[in-house]
Amino acid sequence: MASAAYDAIIIGTGQAGPFLAHRLAAKGMKIAIIERKLFGGTCVNTGCIPTKTMVASAYAAHLARRASDYGVDTGAVSVDMKRVKARKDEVSGNSRAAVENGLKSLQNCTVYRGHARFESAHEVSVGAARLTAGQIFINVGCRATVPPLPGIEEVPYFTNTSMLDIDFLPRHLVIVGGSYIGLEFGQMYRRFGSEVTIIEMGPRLIQREDEDVSAAIREILEREGVNIRLNAKCVSLAQRGNETFAHADCEDGPPDIGGSHVLLAVGRRPNTEDLGLEKAGVATDPRGYIVVDDQLRTSAPGIWAMGDCNGKGGFTHTSFNDSEIVGANLLDNDPRRVSDRITAYALYIDPPLGRVGLTEAEARKTGSAALMGKRPMTKVGRAIEKGETQGFMKIVVDAETRHILGAAILGVGGDEAIHSILDIMYAKAPYSVIQRAMHVHPTVSELIPTMLGELQPLPGT
Ligand SMILES: Cc1cc2nc3c(=O)[nH]c(=O)nc-3n(C[C@H](O)[C@H](O)[C@H](O)COP(=O)(O)OP(=O)(O)OC[C@H]3O[C@@H](n4cnc5c(N)ncnc54)[C@H](O)[C@@H]3O)c2cc1C
Repeated sequence: MASAAYDAIIIGTGQAGPFLAHRLAAKGMKIAIIERKLFGGTCVNTGCIPTKTMVASAYAAHLARRASDYGVDTGAVSVDMKRVKARKDEVSGNSRAAVENGLKSLQNCTVYRGHARFESAHEVSVGAARLTAGQIFINVGCRATVPPLPGIEEVPYFTNTSMLDIDFLPRHLVIVGGSYIGLEFGQMYRRFGSEVTIIEMGPRLIQREDEDVSAAIREILEREGVNIRLNAKCVSLAQRGNETFAHADCEDGPPDIGGSHVLLAVGRRPNTEDLGLEKAGVATDPRGYIVVDDQLRTSAPGIWAMGDCNGKGGFTHTSFNDSEIVGANLLDNDPRRVSDRITAYALYIDPPLGRVGLTEAEARKTGSAALMGKRPMTKVGRAIEKGETQGFMKIVVDAETRHILGAAILGVGGDEAIHSILDIMYAKAPYSVIQRAMHVHPTVSELIPTMLGELQPLPGT
């Protein structure tokens, strides 16, 4: 068995590993990086990049159907799923190649292909090779959960990964799970032309969000003809001929939903059970996430865990931020921490939801007096001009410190406009700074100062 000694080993080429590899190699360290499947990991191949590329195709179809609202004639609109997939494959493939080529041409870095496994705290095997290093960085990500639903063994189903391989239009796509992934695929396929039913076990969609956000998202999707079934207490699957039936005990609607295809979008689980972590003394929590401290050190000295597998984030930007934290601590004498960061993410339905900090419900639970501002997108000039007035923006502020606690912008441009609020939060500045800022007209962002000028006490605080 070939063995090789390195200064550092990185397992996985997701959103943290490659960046750290470049940083360590630039310092002259001898690096090994190991990838068992596709360079770039989830975001590049089966997550953000392919889905957002397809969301753009779906938006084009939607806008084309609405063209006459803008005085434009298009004729009948049809979607060629083969070309939609080809476009997605090209964007995703270019990104994958950039990661792969970047690592393979990196000086001081050796790329290994295969499944990595710890043999001890400083030893990793990949195929026939045994690699040793004083520092090891784990960036192995998560994969789709396949829940043990009754009948799951008997029906064909998609996960977010296999769904991205298809180049045809499902006649009726039944999606189990009404959170981020399910909603993005649901609206996208509805706009491509499928009938879509989303089955959610909870009482509302995307339950991490405030009730008004959930309700507005439901309205947006239902207006486009997406069927939504909530409170699905028990879901089971069965195949009858060409039809896949989902049986859902919901409060309303028939219990059997016959579809042509099923997509499971019920969460993700970490790729940690086959890593040999026990041989390295790396502890995991009961759900398999690697336990890390605020600077991403695991329970084993000399081993760090970054990205989705440490359970601290779940987004591309949190994984990338993890690599910045580790790099800063190791190379820059800069003690950056996970707890320095402010929650921020987006949901890429159309219009998108941009979110930062606390929800209104979480702000209530702090027990401190708070103020809230809210403005419907029907009162945002840019949204009116664009003919996209669904949704609203809202912001919650600490009444005493005047610091922004959190915000949601569900509306056109919400994924971008939210950043002016996020940056003020990072600056630890009072909301009056943004309230007095002169924003560009006409933009969605220009109404943020106006909304801040209309704050009212948040009931219940
Ligand atoms: C459908 C979907 C849409 C998403 N959309 C967004 C979005 O819009 N915005 C956003 O911020 N996030 C989004 N995400 C989440 C985002 O993709 C992940 O948070 C992000 O990819 C971070 O992943 P990571 O760096 O932890 O690891 P990953 O990107 O998952 O990479 C891990 C890598 O490790 C490799 N690996 C695993 N085990 C081993 C092993 N033992 N040996 C060798 N290699 C191994 C894997 O093959 C993989 O390449 C989405 C996810 C999905 C599923």
